[in-house]
Amino acid sequence: MKTDTLAIHGGFQGDSESGATAVPIHQTVSYAYKTAQELADVFDGRAPGYIYTRIANPTTTALEARLTELEGGIGCIATSSGMAAIASVVMGLVRAGDEIIAAAGIFGGTVSLFENTLGRFGIKTNLVDAADTAEFAKAINNKTKLIFLETIGNPRMDVPDIPAIAGITNRANIPLIVDNTLTTPFLIRPKEFRADIVVHSTSKFINGHGTAIGGAIIDTGNYDWANGPFEDIKKLAGQVRQLAFLAHLRNLIYRDLGGCAAPMNSFLMLQGLETLSGRMTKHCENAEKLAQYLQNHPKVCWVNYPGLESSKFHSRVVELFGGRASGLLTFGLDDKDKAFRFIDSVKLAKNLANLGDAKTLVIHPSSTIFHEFSLEQQKQMGVTEDMVRVSVGIEDFEDIKSDFEQAIEKAFEVEK
Ligand SMILES: *Cc1c(COP(=O)(O)O)cnc(C)c1O
Repeated sequence: MKTDTLAIHGGFQGDSESGATAVPIHQTVSYAYKTAQELADVFDGRAPGYIYTRIANPTTTALEARLTELEGGIGCIATSSGMAAIASVVMGLVRAGDEIIAAAGIFGGTVSLFENTLGRFGIKTNLVDAADTAEFAKAINNKTKLIFLETIGNPRMDVPDIPAIAGITNRANIPLIVDNTLTTPFLIRPKEFRADIVVHSTSKFINGHGTAIGGAIIDTGNYDWANGPFEDIKKLAGQVRQLAFLAHLRNLIYRDLGGCAAPMNSFLMLQGLETLSGRMTKHCENAEKLAQYLQNHPKVCWVNYPGLESSKFHSRVVELFGGRASGLLTFGLDDKDKAFRFIDSVKLAKNLANLGDAKTLVIHPSSTIFHEFSLEQQKQMGVTEDMVRVSVGIEDFEDIKSDFEQAIEKAFEVEK
């Protein structure tokens, strides 16, 4: 089945008992067995079955199956948030003394997890310019255990050369982790460009309506766990082969960290997935129109949208995402005061910390998501004080444009 069909039918063929066509919400903590032996067998892995929702849940299983099919992977673990997905993957791979290479200009929470939280446990992170592929190769040493990228860096909007960087991780025999939150499987399946593990914040475009936090980890099947530098996962590969990494997470890291998906949230993600194709098409269309409108606006200083022909990443957007560049863009209004006045003046767009909602959203990244970083650090992460970030919604474009038009006028009013 093609992507649009998988998003609606993947991983669930209807409930065999009731005939329900929507995935039932299994709002339960645990699962009862008739005999002590049966439960013991499930615990020991001798028989399949659910034990406890922190480890697995049938509603969440349906979401995991659908995401596996959409990403063309071999398995998936859904998590309580995008951060839980990233934390589980990275903690499943590194030990104290190890190093991570990540693209600079990625999601601030991920940078904070790597530098602040994992830094406390003796993990070192090297941030590398996402646009400069050679820098990734240079940063690798014998302590490096993974490279982490975003398909489109949020908020720097860099599009890394995933296939070339996959060549680098391949030679170093370490996995390449790609955060596909901004692009979703509708614009790219990172597996096809040799990424090893895909992570998502499903809170964004997959949920699509700003109603639930969630995340996901998909093993693409590209990495050979039997021959990597991860001794504990290697041992598991002897029993479950390519599923070794997911088994290592499910039975240890994910289980112990407790970042499981809530059944209700898994339901909301499944529902979001059903309309993802239509929404992504409109998000991309509206974002491209808005980027062009802002680029031609005399009062707008700069626009950063990789889908613009003037972007240095445009050819990569064509190569990796078929020419569409998702719904996120940033632009500059001269200084922080004007950025604030613009945000105070929009009427349709909401000022909040999220993206990928059906509604158009705006935020001032420097004073919000990145407020804990110094201005110098922010600069390295691609955040400037004049920057407004926009998650372009799926409203009628003319209404978005009018809203921006009047708010840009107001941003400059006091200067007259
Ligand atoms: C939001 C986001 C995350 C974190 O996801 P949560 O669901 O908020 O925990 C990670 N990566 C990217 C690219 C994001 O936009």
